[in-house]
Order: sequence, then structure tokens, then C-alpha cells
Amino acid sequence: MNEAGSNDRGIPREGNLEAPTRHPLDWTSGEFWNHAGLDAELERVFEICHGCRRCVSLCHAFPTLFDLVDESTTMEVDGVDKADYPRVVEQCYLCDLCYQTKCPYVPPHPWNVDFPHLMLRAKAVHFREHGAPLGAKVLASTTAVGKLASIPVVVEAVNWGNRQPLLRAAMEGTLGVHRDARVPEYHADTAKRRLRGASGDAALQLHVAKRSREDVVRFLEQEALATHERALKSLEFIEHPLWRTYVFCYAGGERLLSQWVESAGDKTAQHARFFRLLTEQITPSGIAADSV
Ligand code: SF4
Ligand code: SF4
Repeated sequence: MNEAGSNDRGIPREGNLEAPTRHPLDWTSGEFWNHAGLDAELERVFEICHGCRRCVSLCHAFPTLFDLVDESTTMEVDGVDKADYPRVVEQCYLCDLCYQTKCPYVPPHPWNVDFPHLMLRAKAVHFREHGAPLGAKVLASTTAVGKLASIPVVVEAVNWGNRQPLLRAAMEGTLGVHRDARVPEYHADTAKRRLRGASGDAALQLHVAKRSREDVVRFLEQEALATHERALKSLEFIEHPLWRTYVFCYAGGERLLSQWVESAGDKTAQHARFFRLLTEQITPSGIAADSV
């Protein structure tokens, strides 16, 4: 090899015969945000893709591009209106498949095609210039939407609404979610809630199995999906001479009380049971015996 990406005769070699070189996006430079510069780079890469068309089956970005080219007056990229470039960009969901598995022109090939990075740059420029539509903001707020939609009672209304054609048509108009697209069913008994008991497992690992503090933190991160800070806080709780005795109360207690209240029957009966919790002294064993 005389230089990166060429053989001894100076002929560019395919870049994906070995791990590609990924150049970081230079997002702090002024050129990165330059709209005309971005359009020029999109046109350059679109030209290469139009001549190649290898990724046509990967996602909808490539068929969108090739249709725009084929339907243009010149049937070349120069016939595509630059105002239509975002139609290609919005179809890319940044899976990286074209870069990782298909493209022969990724660096070190001198053509330096990194289609997903170019799409990411185009999305960033578009966001800076136009902001994000309401639908994108809502759909990206997965934590907030999940918290709201998994509230008991609300969850039933949300799941019911997602099955109603009229409401789905309204959702398509406001959020851009196709009326026939499958949407996930929400659950009040969330995975996070079910994993609350993992702190009890962590306490047993620390105090009974004598596992190291690092192992216990790792367990909480991997099995209980806790953040590192949250795992450290749980460890502090588990180790505290006073608080450690409470470790089973919260997860086990909530489960015991929820089952007891929910097994009462209709809402009125459930409210009556909840009222008893607030006004009577009932032992856990009494509740357990009453639940069966
Ligand atoms: S990175 Fe984008 S353009 Fe490439 S295959 Fe994935 S979705 Fe398609
Ligand atoms: S990303 Fe690469 S492999 Fe895919 S169509 Fe473009 S040039 Fe061809």
C-alpha cells in the first residue's frame, strides 16, 4: 500500500475488507453547520450512492433517494431539488447498517462515504434551523410518556385509545404515527416496579454470600437497571446498620399491600380496604392470610 486506501498501483481498494476507519464528526467547526456546505456534501455522497445502489434494501432512505433521482428531469442527482434532500434524511434512523456492513467506500477509501454520519449532520443542521416538531418531542420523551401512560387507570385508557381508529387518525395528524403502525401496550406493573425486589437480592449477596461491594454495585446496575449513582445509593442503604433492616419492607410491603387491595373486588371494595390500612393496625401476616 502506498497510501491509506490505495494499492501499489494507486487503485482505491474497497474499504470494508477490514474494519472501517470512522472519523469523528467535526461538530464544533463552523463548516459543520454551513447549510450550503452540507448540501454540497449531500450531493457528492448521493452521486456515489446513485451509481452504486447497493443499500437499496436496507431502509427507506435509499429508495427515497433513488426515486427522487429516477423521477427527476435529468435522471441524475443534479436534477433533484435540494429542498427534497430532507425527505431522504428523515427516512434514516441511524442504525449504521449501511456503514458497518454494506458500503465499500467507507474510509480508508478515498471517497470517504459515511452515510449515517452525513445523515446525523443533516439532522443536526435541520434541528438547529427549524427545531423539532411536537410529534418528535413527544415520542422522544420516552421516560415522561412511559411514566404518564403506566399510571393505573390511565394505562387502560391509553391502551383502549390506541385501539380506536378515530383516535389513531387523530394521532397520525398530531404526532405523525401512522394509524396502522403497531404501538406498544403500556403496563401499570412496569419492569422497573417488578425489579424493586432486586435490592433485597443485593443485600443477601452482600451480607450472606459476602460478595464484594463492587460485585453488588455491578449486580444492581445490570440486573436492577440502576444507574451507577442509584446503585451506590442502594449500597449505602443496604450497608447502613439501621436502614438495612428496611430493605425488604418497601418492595415486599408494596407487593403485599397491592395484592391485598386489588384482590378486594370492585373499586368500592378496594377503597374500603385501603381505608382500613389507614385506620387499623393490621399486621403483615394478617394481610397475607387475608389475601389467599
Ligand atoms: S444508517 Fe440510515 S441510511 Fe444507513 S441503513 Fe441505517 S437507516 Fe438506512
Ligand atoms: S452507502 Fe455506500 S454501499 Fe450504500 S448505496 Fe451508498 S455508496 Fe453504495
